[in-house]
Amino acid sequence: MSLKRILVTGGAGFLGSHLCDRLVAQGHDVICVDNFFTSQKSNVKHLLGLPNFELIRHDVTHALWLEVDQIYNLACPAAPGHYQYNPIKTMKTSVMGAINVLGMAKRCHAKVLQASTSEIYGDPDIHPQPESYRGNVNPIGPRACYDEGKRAAETLFFDYHRANGVNIRVVRIFNTYGPRMHPFDGRVVSNFIRQAMHEPTLTMFGDGTQSRSFCFVDDMIEGLIRMMEAPDDFVGPVNIGNPNEFTIMQLAELVIELAGRGDLPIEHLPLPADDPRQRQPDITLAKEKLNWAPTVELREGLERTIRYFKSINFDDYRAPTPNF
Ligand code: NAD
Ligand code: UDP
Repeated sequence: MSLKRILVTGGAGFLGSHLCDRLVAQGHDVICVDNFFTSQKSNVKHLLGLPNFELIRHDVTHALWLEVDQIYNLACPAAPGHYQYNPIKTMKTSVMGAINVLGMAKRCHAKVLQASTSEIYGDPDIHPQPESYRGNVNPIGPRACYDEGKRAAETLFFDYHRANGVNIRVVRIFNTYGPRMHPFDGRVVSNFIRQAMHEPTLTMFGDGTQSRSFCFVDDMIEGLIRMMEAPDDFVGPVNIGNPNEFTIMQLAELVIELAGRGDLPIEHLPLPADDPRQRQPDITLAKEKLNWAPTVELREGLERTIRYFKSINFDDYRAPTPNF
């Protein structure tokens, strides 16, 4: 493999920092760009000082002038509480961020990968969701700033590809969890683990019959890198996620068991508007084109995530938004 100059936007975030770890370990020259809206330098502090890692504080809604061979575009708040905090900024980040990285890719002849999302499918009528499903998104609801921003970004990626020949990759990421999740991001895995460690109740939105399919971070990073390295005639979109589906109640029971908090009461709160009822990736395409499939079961991944949460001091983390 030849060594490359690689830009990771959102590189200090949960997924971005793991991606930087992998790319730095492979010897690439890695530039991490982040405005630290939902992350902190501690996620990449072990990389600072390495000769092949560089950190730039920058907001991707503004243009950036760099010369690189590959771009992973991950900059965007991902947790519902984070992306709804300033919904207009979220939309700007997806759309203007995409325009800026695509412009850079066009100028440098770089390959550019978009971290898209299962939210493209909204509250899906088809189950599991194949890439051909066009989705069921409410364009004016509270999740729209994220869902429609990501849909517009996909449109931009494919238009730059068709109109300007930009070498693109689009990955639809399904719920991913693991070490370095922000403990106060309000996502279900971080909330349940934090609550099972320290708090008097576990917050269940609705009755817990809604489902998600949870992918461990290491599997996701492997999928992203395989997609970047895929032959140029496969640009996606491709689903990357773990097809093992769990109800949120099953997830709660597993976290309670693993944390040894059998006495923890479950507090039922209202289900947020437009909360998808079910979600499971059809990963036939990823298996066929990338020879990729997840390897880490939920129980093992949760054990590793709980160990990480026990190793950090929650006082070191700002909660950028209200959370439960
Ligand atoms: P994260 O919030 O930990 O990471 C996002 C990073 O982007 C953070 O470091 C944040 O500070 C940075 N950022 C946000 N706005 C920015 C801006 N305007 N300019 C520069 N940096 C900015 O979330 P994550 O889970 O690591 O998600 C990474 C990417 O993957 C996102 O694009 C997200 O939409 C996508 N994704 C994640 C999941 C998941 O389950 N983790 C699912 C689907 C899609
Ligand atoms: N959820 C919950 N309790 C929480 C946080 C989330 O019951 O403390 C539910 C939420 O309503 C959704 C699911 O867990 O049905 C996953 O939520 P998350 O915010 O992690 O991600 P989403 O897939 O909805 O973007």
